[in-house]
Amino acid sequence: MTDKGKVWLVTGASSGFGRAIAQAAVTAGDTVIGTARRVEGLADLVAEYPDRMEAVGLDVTDGERIDAVASDVLARYGRVDVLVNNAGRTQVGAFEETTDQELRDLFELHVFGPARLTRALLPQMRERGSGAIVNISSFGGQLSFAGFSAYSATKAALEQLSEGLADEVGPFGIRVLIVEPGAFRTNLFGKGAAYFSKEHPAYEEKVGATRKLVQEGDGTQPGDPAKAAAAIRLALEAENTPLRL
Ligand code: NDP
Repeated sequence: MTDKGKVWLVTGASSGFGRAIAQAAVTAGDTVIGTARRVEGLADLVAEYPDRMEAVGLDVTDGERIDAVASDVLARYGRVDVLVNNAGRTQVGAFEETTDQELRDLFELHVFGPARLTRALLPQMRERGSGAIVNISSFGGQLSFAGFSAYSATKAALEQLSEGLADEVGPFGIRVLIVEPGAFRTNLFGKGAAYFSKEHPAYEEKVGATRKLVQEGDGTQPGDPAKAAAAIRLALEAENTPLRL
């Protein structure tokens, strides 16, 4: 801890959970580096907390940019206490119509990006003997249904990566938290945020229902991201941080 609290690096901080987590941390007196492709979504928080809130452009599918941002942040702040791998998006489509490229893109976003950022920030956590890595998965990391095979595959991979990592880094005082949100009112289901694989008439009955749910999802998403952010903060403060939340 410094006089500006813990240092958080949050990916996908321009919207939804990422923004709520960044806001909860900075409001509580911590320092936050909020990253996203569209950093303008953080302008109000930066204006309100100019000495403890920073917005940095980062596409988490760009590995070289991840390394550059991580080393710049470590050079300027000396530490990252909490890494939140949150950036993500939905993808709906019949598995038969999901291309290699679509699957690879989703793995880049939900698995390879978080993995690279974790590797970039882990050594300083290990050397200091403290730190926390929060990986935002999904209920879809534990179960799946028609149209969600690609999304769920990436989240399940992130969860297993996290479980093994938790076992490895626990002895160094580093906590790993897997968060499995249910349905929350964010932009995840908004226009332009969700990706849809090509349609196939044979799968319309089941996959079409999932597509409709996502396309019209706004009214059915009951959760409040601010409450989830508060729960994440509490979990990280617990003496025995749970592995899953
Ligand atoms: P939002 O769409 O509101 O936010 C997604 C965030 O991810 C945005 O800030 C977006 O920023 C960022 N993002 C997307 N692609 C990239 C990229 N390539 N590089 C960097 N940032 C990126 O959705 P949520 O807040 O709901 O989603 C956050 C996480 O929560 C995701 O991992 C999602 O899978 C998970 N989740 C959400 C659920 C829900 O009900 N909302 C349920 C289960 C899991 P920008 O476009 O500016 O880069």
